Amino acid sequence: MRYEAPESLEGAVALLAGAKGEARVLAGGTDLLVQMRADVVDPDLIVDIKRIPETRAVTEEKGGWRIGAAVTGAELKEHPRLKKVWPGVIEAANLIGSTQVQGRATLGGNLCNGSPAADSVPALIAAGAVASLVGPGGRRDLPVEDVMLGPRKLALQKGEIVASFLLPPRPPRSSDAYLRFIPRTEMDIAVVGAGVSLSLDANSVISAARVSLGAVAARVLLVPEAAQAIIGSRLDKPAQDRLEAAARAACRPIDDKRGTTEFRIDVAAVLARRSALIALDRARSN
Ligand SMILES: Cc1cc2nc3c(=O)[nH]c(=O)nc-3n(C[C@H](O)[C@H](O)[C@H](O)COP(=O)(O)OP(=O)(O)OC[C@H]3O[C@@H](n4cnc5c(N)ncnc54)[C@H](O)[C@@H]3O)c2cc1C
Repeated sequence: MRYEAPESLEGAVALLAGAKGEARVLAGGTDLLVQMRADVVDPDLIVDIKRIPETRAVTEEKGGWRIGAAVTGAELKEHPRLKKVWPGVIEAANLIGSTQVQGRATLGGNLCNGSPAADSVPALIAAGAVASLVGPGGRRDLPVEDVMLGPRKLALQKGEIVASFLLPPRPPRSSDAYLRFIPRTEMDIAVVGAGVSLSLDANSVISAARVSLGAVAARVLLVPEAAQAIIGSRLDKPAQDRLEAAARAACRPIDDKRGTTEFRIDVAAVLARRSALIALDRARSN
């Protein structure tokens, strides 16, 4: 097995695109190394992207924030301003594993591992994050909801990597939240996850919203009907009921030992409502 750690995106893309056998990007390694040890994957080439500046930076851009794909959850938590603007994204990244795992696990790895239960993905989708992909054909932008096609299936082409994510500018009175259900308090895979991002107008009416659900379908879902259910409301009880109904209707979960179909649908509705209430509360003080 060959290990390379290029210092430019072009270098990483050239290595990945030119690889003869199986090639994998290495970010934090908290999924990849586990899978290699379990013989689930056996790459001929590993391309470590952590020496590439764009993948490791958090910068303000056009009023929004660009977050490198190889920035860890722990680094995001330490950022002096990001937590105020995108608390839901930060809390989602910091639900991943343990303190030790959070010191390695990255947003790019969480997305590109291709799990429908990945914790940071619903929060990124709710935030309206756009992934910046770099490959042999150059650079292109893809909304995060379009990156994952199904379990372990991504819209990335051969040689293409996620370089960074752009979180859009935030109007005043905006915030977000992410909640997940797991059977124990930490170190478990989400049975359901729900991310909500919303903005309020000057009268505290919801003027924009995005709702995303994880682990209730083959890919993390953006649920526009759930957003429409609360836009124009103050998230009063009827709006909460509409949100729950829309979240339920969007779910197409599997039935497994972690949760039955019925249980997952019930939990998705509850978590969508609770996340929306938390985001609303945060937006009021922003
Ligand atoms: C003990 C433990 C607990 C965990 N708990 C959770 C949890 O609670 N919630 C959760 O969601 N996950 C959890 N995970 C899974 C894992 O930690 C996360 O998915 C993490 O975010 C992966 O990031 P990474 O940087 O370590 O990815 P890596 O392991 O480096 O990469 C993962 C995959 O993505 C690819 N990849 C990585 N970066 C890129 C990129 N920029 N462009 C293209 N492809 C890329 C890699 O080739 C690989 O296939 C846990 C893992 C462990 C070991």
